[in-house]
Amino acid sequence: MVKSELYFDDGPFRIPFPEEMHRAAQEQQSNNKEARIARAREVYCPHLGDLSSRNDQIALLVEDSRYEDDDLADILAIDIPEALQIWEARPVSLFSCLEPACRTPLPIRNRTHLRRLLHLEKQFNSFVRAEDPVEFQKLATMLCEGCAQGLEHSYDEQRRAEMCIRQARVAQLRRMPFEEYRLTPEWRARRNRVLFRAGKQCELGGDRCDPSEPIDVHHRSYSRYGDEPLNHLIALCRSCHQRHHGILPEAA
Ligand SMILES: [Zn+2]
Ligand SMILES: [Zn+2]
Ligand SMILES: [Zn+2]
Repeated sequence: MVKSELYFDDGPFRIPFPEEMHRAAQEQQSNNKEARIARAREVYCPHLGDLSSRNDQIALLVEDSRYEDDDLADILAIDIPEALQIWEARPVSLFSCLEPACRTPLPIRNRTHLRRLLHLEKQFNSFVRAEDPVEFQKLATMLCEGCAQGLEHSYDEQRRAEMCIRQARVAQLRRMPFEEYRLTPEWRARRNRVLFRAGKQCELGGDRCDPSEPIDVHHRSYSRYGDEPLNHLIALCRSCHQRHHGILPEAA
């Protein structure tokens, strides 16, 4: 599988859904949908097919995401690997690598894998348009291993460049005196998040707080100045803040 250090600080690595892969996904979904309807018609419409087509009924149920493995095994009275073998002999939905130049069939590892592919197929076609950001790992699930690695490498360089820019910016912020740093969008965003966490109240609380006072955001630690995790910051009312810095006496 693809390496998993695809995480920035702010969540999973996303890329724009390549348009040609999006088209392949839509085509695949519409083919699979037709195949499911056709198979269901064969199974359930008495004029068309053989009503006793046990294996086709099993194949349809294997793809039915309403049933967890245990429930399905109960319904069919066979175990899941056997049901999956029956599905494999004549699968309903087919999954191929979404890279149009490749289209290698994806091997199905187990029913969980199959249900994940069905789920992603639906998600990609109902909620995601071409060029929308998608989680890299989700898209990679719909690709063969080689194409997933190729796509990852093509983004590696861009990610490295972005990482460098970010590191350079953090270094720049760390050198700024606070009077300058406090005007940057980075500090403002962090400050807003702390105020939001605090509900715009002093996080020390207690009798000595004055709710009418402005709320400051104070550094509990300067070790990550310029790139502070939120737990290094605390919202304090002006009195608590000044008391903390020894501007107001403790007993005030
Ligand atoms: Zn491929
Ligand atoms: Zn206070
Ligand atoms: Zn302070």
